[in-house]
Amino acid sequence: MIDAQTGAEPRTVRQGEPRLTVVSGPSGVGKSSVLGEVRKRSAEIYFSVSATTRAPRAGEIDGVHYHFVDTAEFQRMIDADEMLEHAQYAGNFYGTPRKPVEDALAAGRPAVLEIELQGARQVRRAMPEAQLVMLLPPSWEVLVDRLTGRGTEPAEVVERRLATAREELAAESEFDASVVNADVQAATGELLRLILGREL
Ligand code: 5GP
Repeated sequence: MIDAQTGAEPRTVRQGEPRLTVVSGPSGVGKSSVLGEVRKRSAEIYFSVSATTRAPRAGEIDGVHYHFVDTAEFQRMIDADEMLEHAQYAGNFYGTPRKPVEDALAAGRPAVLEIELQGARQVRRAMPEAQLVMLLPPSWEVLVDRLTGRGTEPAEVVERRLATAREELAAESEFDASVVNADVQAATGELLRLILGREL
């Protein structure tokens, strides 16, 4: 059925059908904490491992947190159409390898991508049935506190991050659902319901 007001096809998913969920949200909103909890509470979900050209941070493992690749390899993956989406963020390239996501969905597992806004928009175009979820801070002030509170970065880095956060939050209406991260456990429960399409 076509929606009379927007003219858009509703993005309904049949009950029980595995689906792709994209989780986006500004830096500092707590994506990793909430998704870390989601991971602990459901082994059924496939979490995509992105490829990136950024250098590994302390404790990050190749193939677990990211596939760390050089720019030539990243470009080869794009040219070979191996990326479901890709984007540039803070001077580095990030992309979602397509095949593992398609394999997980085909095997009946719900899949999750934790990616930034440009990538979320590409997934929307490539896979209109995907569900886009934005993780929101309880308020702008809380986000500013979290981003400046790290206290380790120069002012211009924090400023750039706040500008990007403002842009990401302005795109909320493009998303199918939003989850406010006031409390990690509560946000985890809400996100799990959206990803699984049912109560856990
Ligand atoms: P970080 O470098 O802090 O791990 O990630 C920076 C940003 O890149 C985050 O907003 C994260 O969600 C996003 N990101 C991580 N992987 C991907 C990806 O495969 N595609 C896109 N478009 N963004 C990604």
